[in-house]
Amino acid sequence: MSDRPVVTRIAPSPTGAMHIGTARTALFNYLYAKHTGGTFLLRIEDTDRERSTEAAVKVIFDGMAWLGMTPDAEPVFQASRAERHREVALDLLERGAAYRDYMTPDELEAEREVARAEGRVVRSPWRDLAPNDAPDRPFVVRLKSPRDGETAVEDQVKGAVRFQNKDLDDLILLRTDGTPTYNLAVVVDDHDMGVTHVIRGDDHLNNAARQTLIYQGMGWEVPAWAHLPMIHGPDGAKLSKRHGAQAVSEFDDMGYLPEAMRNYLTKLGWGHGDDEIFSDAQAAEWFDIRDVVSAPARLDWAKLNHINNHYIRLAEPARLADLVARILKSRDWPLHDGDMDILQRTIPLVRDGAKTTLDLADNVVFALKRRPLELPEKIAGMLNDETRGRLSRLRDRLQSEAAWEVPALEALLRAFAESEGVGLGKIGPALRGVLSGGSPAPDLAGALVSLGKAESLARIDDALSQAQ
Ligand code: GLU
Repeated sequence: MSDRPVVTRIAPSPTGAMHIGTARTALFNYLYAKHTGGTFLLRIEDTDRERSTEAAVKVIFDGMAWLGMTPDAEPVFQASRAERHREVALDLLERGAAYRDYMTPDELEAEREVARAEGRVVRSPWRDLAPNDAPDRPFVVRLKSPRDGETAVEDQVKGAVRFQNKDLDDLILLRTDGTPTYNLAVVVDDHDMGVTHVIRGDDHLNNAARQTLIYQGMGWEVPAWAHLPMIHGPDGAKLSKRHGAQAVSEFDDMGYLPEAMRNYLTKLGWGHGDDEIFSDAQAAEWFDIRDVVSAPARLDWAKLNHINNHYIRLAEPARLADLVARILKSRDWPLHDGDMDILQRTIPLVRDGAKTTLDLADNVVFALKRRPLELPEKIAGMLNDETRGRLSRLRDRLQSEAAWEVPALEALLRAFAESEGVGLGKIGPALRGVLSGGSPAPDLAGALVSLGKAESLARIDDALSQAQ
C-alpha cells in the first residue's frame, strides 16, 4: 500500500431506511479516518432511479446527522457521474482491457446453457475477434478478465481471500443502452474520490475481486479492503424485522441517544479490552480497522440499554427535556408554559433507572399533571382519618421549610416520622400517591423538589379536601 493520506467513504444506496449495519459501516469508516488523521467522505449510490427518491436521500442525510458523523466534503451523487463512468469504460476499450460484445440475447442464452453444462462461466467470442469484424448492432462493453491465475483480495478483516480467475466472467461495464454498471461506477468513483480504504459490508466481498480487475485494467492503485461481518440478532440469526428495530430512525424513536448508539455500534465487531464505555475521542484514538473481528456481531439489547442509561445520566437536562417534550407531544400530552422548567428540574431526579428517553418520559409525567389530580382508588383508600391527620401535620412542616432541596427535605421527612413515632413507611406511600396521582415518581424528597413547594402543598391540600 502506498502512503497516501487515508480517505474512507460510506456509500449507501438510498432505499428507504438507513439500516444500523450501514450506520456501523459509516462509523468504522469515520473512526478510521479520524484515527489516521484522514478524510471521511459520503457517496450516495443513487443509480437505481426508481428507488432513489429525494426522501430516501434525506433519510441518509438525517441518519448521518443524527449520529453526528459529518463527512469532510460535500456528498457525491453517483448518478450524476454516469458520463465519467462511460469515459473510463471507453478508456478501458482503448487500452485493450475491455471489448465490445455483440452477442444477441439469443446467442447469450445459448452460450449460458453451454457454459452451465460445461461448468464454466460465460465467455463471449467477441473477446478475441478483431474490432473491424464488428456488426452494426447493439453491444455491451465487457472487461477482459484474466482467464488464468487468481485474484487475491487482501482483506484487512478477512485476511487474504483468493478468487480463481477462471470463475470470474467478463464483467459487463456498459449495458447496451450505454449506462454504466454498478461495479464500474463504484471503482471509478472510489478512484476519483481518492479512496484509499474501502470499508463496507462483507456482502460486497465478491465484488472486491471484480473491482480489483477494473482497477488493474486502468492501471490504478487498488485500495485496501476491509469487509465487515454482518450484524446478527441476539439469537445469532441475520438481523431481521422479528428482532425489532433495524433502522437508525427506529432507534431514535425508541429513545436511544446518538452518542450511546455510536458507543454501542463501535463495539459491534470491535473492542478495546473490556471497555464498555468510551468517548468519541477515545474511540478515534483506539480504533484500528485491523482489529475488527471477522465473526458476525450480535445485537445485545441489554448492553445497548446499559450504555444508553450511562449517556442519559451524563446528558444535559435541557437537552433531555427537549427530547422528552418531543416524545410527550407524540403522545398528545398537552405541554403548558413552565413545563420545560419542570422537566429540567425533574429529569435529573428520575433518570438513574431510565434505559431510554421513553422511560424518562414515563417517569416525568407525574410532575406535569394538572391539578386537581385524579387519585386512583388504591391511593384514595389510603386516606383514612389517621393518614389525613398525619398528612396535614406534615403539610404544615413542609410549608415552613425554606430549603426546598433533596437533603433538607429528606431530613425533614425523617424528623417528622420520628416525631409521629412511626416509620416512614406509614406516611410515604400516601404522600407519594397524593403527589404523583399513582404515576411513577422518584423518592419522596425528589418528588417534592421536582414539583416545587407551591405545587406540592397544593396537591396535598387537594387530597385533604377531597370528600372521603
Ligand atoms: N451501495 C452499496 C450498499 O449500500 C455499498 C457499496 C460499497 O460500499 O462499495 O451496500
